[in-house]
Amino acid sequence: MRATIFEAPGKISVVDRTTPTPGPGEVRLRVAAASLCNSDVRVYRGEKYALPGVVPGHEIAGVVDALGEGVTSVKEGTRVVVCPIVTCGHCRFCIVGRQNRCAERKTLGYDLDGGFAEYLLVPAQLVRSGHVLPVSDSLPLDIAALTEPAACTLSSLDLMQISAGSSLAIVGAGPMGLLHVIMAKAAGVSPIIVSEPVAERRAIAKRWGADLVLDPATDNVVAAVKDATGGYGADAVALTVGAHALVAPTIDIVRKQGVINMFAGFPPNQTVPFDPNLVHYGEIALTGSQNATLDQYRRTIAMLANVPHIDEVVTNRYDIEHGPEAYTSRLAMDGLKSLVQFAGVDEA
Ligand SMILES: [Zn+2]
Ligand SMILES: [Zn+2]
Repeated sequence: MRATIFEAPGKISVVDRTTPTPGPGEVRLRVAAASLCNSDVRVYRGEKYALPGVVPGHEIAGVVDALGEGVTSVKEGTRVVVCPIVTCGHCRFCIVGRQNRCAERKTLGYDLDGGFAEYLLVPAQLVRSGHVLPVSDSLPLDIAALTEPAACTLSSLDLMQISAGSSLAIVGAGPMGLLHVIMAKAAGVSPIIVSEPVAERRAIAKRWGADLVLDPATDNVVAAVKDATGGYGADAVALTVGAHALVAPTIDIVRKQGVINMFAGFPPNQTVPFDPNLVHYGEIALTGSQNATLDQYRRTIAMLANVPHIDEVVTNRYDIEHGPEAYTSRLAMDGLKSLVQFAGVDEA
């Protein structure tokens, strides 16, 4: 089979690999589509770890192609997405359903081969723990590949405890900021306020449902957010850009007793100064979120086909031979999500 592999920071190649044969408890998928995450780009830049030689790709949709001995929970030919986190099932996070914080967690695309290849071998542990999730016929697999980033977004919204009628400020309108816009919009969050320096992205945020879009270079963001929220500040702020300089300003736009979620990952080994009295007297909750629980994957699959504009999130599509271009287009900030797609798999 053809596979894209991560060799070292800055080095992604397309190679021949032996097509895997599923052993006991394992499942093989024929990959239909796998989308590139900003965290893959961070691996490429050397900011985040991945095993050299691994097949990247943790945002995966495909068709069950072969079953290992003893597998009864999924059937051949089923269209599925994969929750890519391999968990122990017995640590204190796993037993309360917070699989994404598992103490022994491994992740497809970083520690184990992921979806940028014609076939994916799903480890027995993932199959056993229900991480191979069927999707409905109405959800095309290229959109289903967005289940992982959309589930991460749902996890962010859950953690910030916002729902219909809550106000949300989103810092950054890259693919993940825009996913926050459309998922929050679908959940009835209002107003949705977006701060983004790139005009084209502000226009997309507006078109996809943001009530107010701000240019941090020219607008008074603090005044505009307060003005849009009755003078209080936003109930929640999602920081979707991993820039240290943007952390402290989020404190100025959240309301007292509001929540700030550091959704993006940051370049390592840097710190951020802020006045802790703002957190103390404002009773502000600072949190982070990363990946999602299995239940959030399930809920994402249930809602995804009904999220307007989700089909517009992928702008750059490549076949496997051009997989490395998925990285270079993201690095150049060309378009939104990049997808490696395998023709004909979803129609089979
Ligand atoms: Zn991702
Ligand atoms: Zn665990």
